[in-house]
Amino acid sequence: MKKVFLAIAVGLLSLTTFEGMSQNKNKVIAHRGAWKNTGATENSIGALEHAIKLGCYGSEFDVHMSADSVLFVLHDHSIKGTHIEKTNSQELLQIKLENGESLPTLEAYLKAGSKQKKTRLILEIKPSSVNKERSLALATKCVELVKKMKVEKITDYISFDFDVCLKVKQLAPKAHVEYLKGDKTPDEIAAAGLDGIDYHFNVFKKNEDYIPAMRQKKLTTNVWTVNDEASLKYFLEKDVDFITTNEPELLLSISK
Ligand code: MG
Repeated sequence: MKKVFLAIAVGLLSLTTFEGMSQNKNKVIAHRGAWKNTGATENSIGALEHAIKLGCYGSEFDVHMSADSVLFVLHDHSIKGTHIEKTNSQELLQIKLENGESLPTLEAYLKAGSKQKKTRLILEIKPSSVNKERSLALATKCVELVKKMKVEKITDYISFDFDVCLKVKQLAPKAHVEYLKGDKTPDEIAAAGLDGIDYHFNVFKKNEDYIPAMRQKKLTTNVWTVNDEASLKYFLEKDVDFITTNEPELLLSISK
């Protein structure tokens, strides 16, 4: 009898532990975090924390490199007239976002994300506006920092630059890397050794075979940026793996 109780106890314990470790099982990736309905500024740590609180599968954000090679989270190449790539980090650290946060470094951002394991960090490496070398240097620095911050297991990479995707895959073969630009076929993605495609919704609408073709290859599909209810439902029906959206609350509610 004691043995039975022990078996049940161990079973429950492992179940609880597994549940505690496992990531959220839904298709929702909050585009630049959950900002639109929360008052957080896009790409702020606050927006990431809201996406985590909502229980999104992932929270996406964009990364650039300063003139002195420090990584910052921001969508555009510049903020309030200051060009990230042409400015030193000391100056960039003084910049405040709309919600009062400082312009986040990638290190601070990953640290906030590292406090949990359920929401994946979807790291977009922005191609440099200066040259290809800086794009590849940024890719290398992202992989190094993700490793240093011990968030490899919850971080995925995306980029519009195919060479950047290949570089990440070369440096971190176990990382999940999706290509964004939309100009490569499932066969080309598979041949390059990448893990998935994250394409604009029009690309998937024009190429209806892409979702089943990728699934057959055991590669993932992710669509951006889908915000209206009809389109969200269309892609849920097509059974795309992930939907990147500015409306994570709406998508969570209709995909249950
Ligand atoms: Mg992005």
